[in-house]
Formats: sequence, structure tokens, C-alpha cells
Amino acid sequence: MVFGKRKKNAEKDAKPAKAVASTEAPQDDAAALIPADRALDMMADLLRILGEHAFDVGPHSAEEIEETFETWARHLLIGVPPPRSRSDDGHDANKKDEEERRGGKRDLPGLRRAVKEQRIAENEYVTTSLGDFREAAWSFISGLRRSLTVEQAADRRIGHRMRRLEGAVRSGEPDKIKNEAQETVSLLTEFLAERGARHQEQIQQMAARLDKLRDELDSVRKQAAIDPVTKIYNRAAFDEQIEREIDLATLFGTRGCLIMVDLDHFKWVNDTHGHPCGDAVLRQVADALTRCFMRKDDFVARYGGEEFAVVLRDIDLPTARDVAERGMTTIRNLEIFHGEIEEPIRVTASMGVARLRQGETSQSWVERADRALYQAKDAGRDRIEVDPIDLDEA
Ligand code: GH3
Ligand code: MG
Ligand code: MG
Repeated sequence: MVFGKRKKNAEKDAKPAKAVASTEAPQDDAAALIPADRALDMMADLLRILGEHAFDVGPHSAEEIEETFETWARHLLIGVPPPRSRSDDGHDANKKDEEERRGGKRDLPGLRRAVKEQRIAENEYVTTSLGDFREAAWSFISGLRRSLTVEQAADRRIGHRMRRLEGAVRSGEPDKIKNEAQETVSLLTEFLAERGARHQEQIQQMAARLDKLRDELDSVRKQAAIDPVTKIYNRAAFDEQIEREIDLATLFGTRGCLIMVDLDHFKWVNDTHGHPCGDAVLRQVADALTRCFMRKDDFVARYGGEEFAVVLRDIDLPTARDVAERGMTTIRNLEIFHGEIEEPIRVTASMGVARLRQGETSQSWVERADRALYQAKDAGRDRIEVDPIDLDEA
């Protein structure tokens, strides 16, 4: 999605219009005037449609926007206080508005202002994003054209040089062959160095343009699949995200950390308290992890069974270790009740951390974090291990 992250449930259609304006009434009849309550129903319905099909606009998420429209709809229908206008934020609310809020009157001017502000914000957001994408596309096209032009010229020079070398070989004169071979080698060396520098420059230019679009590049994440038990991202979403992470790392030179998390002796929970209780534990651990890793760029997924994976973007090893440590403590302190059990269930986890290395594949990154995880298990569980390769470098 180019312009923002559509809400996950956007396809869920708007609630069916309840009592909407009568369309059966004759057009030119005075009776065609719509009764006020019908008009309010209709307006509330329109507001809900706007909310249900909202998308992220700048700092405001689709969910926040939907909530705002829902509050407006309820303000119209049952007189709950209207949401504060964005332009009121941080200022004393206009006195008259405040009175209307308290007095339960319908704040129609406020509603008009809110819808207008939302529309303007959407317009600006789409226009800016589209402009940024256009710039990035043009930058790519012009880079490609320059590259092709230069390479075609170089091809001609190399072709000419190769024909001369061929002629020299045919002549069989050692000195001539030696000279031509030397010329050819120096031309190729020069060409390769030039090409390397050109590509480097192009990558930097592209990265600078795409930097503005990082959030949009990232937005697929929100639409990715969710694990039904824990309601966090599933393995398929993780596989997609980790490739994306490597793409961004290549382009922007950032390096993230991957943390693999495995619950200790989880089989015991199932065996002692039953599978549904095990599921409840998984849910609480997933909630705890999402609470601990809550930066906008943090990504928490259920990797499978009782194993979770956390991707932390652009972070050094000591910081990743610190936040992982916080995750361990939170999990250790959970007191999980389920059904009839009287004593809370407590669990611990083991974690393995690996920092992305330059040019590394996702498979290798996951394997290294997994290896560190199994070292943590071998060393007695309830602990964090970092891949030794990363420790050597740090
Ligand atoms: P270790 O400390 O070595 O990791 O021991 P463990 O018992 O956690 O590991 P093991 O691999 O022996 O057992 C994992 C258990 O997780 C076995 C499996 O039944 C359980 N499990 C996997 N997926 C689910 C699930 O979706 N729900 C529940 N309740 N249990 C699950
Ligand atoms: Mg386990
Ligand atoms: Mg396991």
C-alpha cells in the first residue's frame, strides 16, 4: 500500500445504514424534508464509513482516526462529549465549544472542522507521499540512463581494445602482444574502478531519496498474517519481515539484532495443566514481549510452537542485550492463572541474540541466533547468549 497502512479490517464493510434519509418521498414535496433524527443517523453512518476505511495519516494511526470518527458519531446520536479537535491540542479549548461539550448540545461546527481537517491532512499526506515516490522513481530512471550511456561507451572502448589485442596475438610479435595486453588490463581496471564508484554513488542517492519513504516501504508489515493463538505476527510475517530488514540494512547501512526466544520446559506446562492452559501462557508471553519491545520499528512474531522471534532495527549489541534482559525479567515475573488453578504458573525463557552481518543472508542470521539460543539452553536455561562471532567483533 503506497499511501499508508490501511486498517486490517478495512474490507469489513460498513455497518448497514440503519435509518437513513428517505428516498421514497417526492422530490418537490415539502414532506421531502428529512426529519432531524434521520439526518443525524445518516451523518453518523457516514462518519463511521469514514472511520472504517481510514488509513494511517502521518502520526495518526487508522485505529485512532476510526476512534475519533466513532466518538463523533456517538456525539451526534447520543450526545457523548465530542473528541477534541486537533487544532485544540495543547491550547485552552474554545470556551463556547467547552460549554457545548458540557451542555450536551451537538457541536456541528466542531464536526465540520474535524472532517475538514482530516480531509486536508489526508490530501497533504497523499500528495507528499506520491511526490516522494515520483522523485525516487525519477532518480532511479535517470541513474539507470546515465549508467547505460556510460557503459555503452565503455563497451565500445573495450571492444576496440580487444580487437587490437586479437590483432597482436595474430601477428605473433611478443612485444606487441605484451603492450596490447598491458593496455587492455589497465583499461579494464580503470573501467571496473569507475563502475564501482558509480554504483556506490547511485546507491547513496537512492538511499537518500528512499529515506523519506521508510515508513511506506515498511507498511506491508501491518497487513501481514497474524497468529490466531497469540494475536501477534506469525512465521510467514516474520519470514517476510526479515528479508525486508536485510534490504533496508543493505540500502541504509543499518544493522539490526535478531533475538530468538524459547520458553523453558514448556512441555511441562502442557503436561501438568493441559493444552488450553499452555495456550494461555503463550498469549501472556506474547503480550509481555510486545510490551517490552515497543519501539515503532520493533517486530515481535511467533516463530512456531513456544518459540518467538524479535527483530530490533538499527541497534547495537549492548542495547539489544539490555532490552532482551528486560524481556527475560518480565517473562520471569509473569503470574499466569487459567481456569481453576490456584497457584499461578511461572515460566522462564532462554534467548539467543545475533546482530546482522554485512552481506549475510536471512538463513544465516536466523541460524546464528538459533545457535546462541541453544547455547543458552545448554548453559542451564533462563539466560541470554550472544552469538560468539558478534562478541568477537564487539
Ligand atoms: P526446552 O526448555 O528444552 O525448550 O523444553 P520444552 O519443554 O519447552 O521444549 P519441547 O520442545 O520439549 O516442548 C515444546 C512443547 O511445546 C511441546 C508442544 O506440545 C508444546 N507446544 C507447541 N505448540 C503449542 C501450542 O500452540 N500450544 C500449546 N499449548 N503447546 C504447544
Ligand atoms: Mg522450549
Ligand atoms: Mg522449542
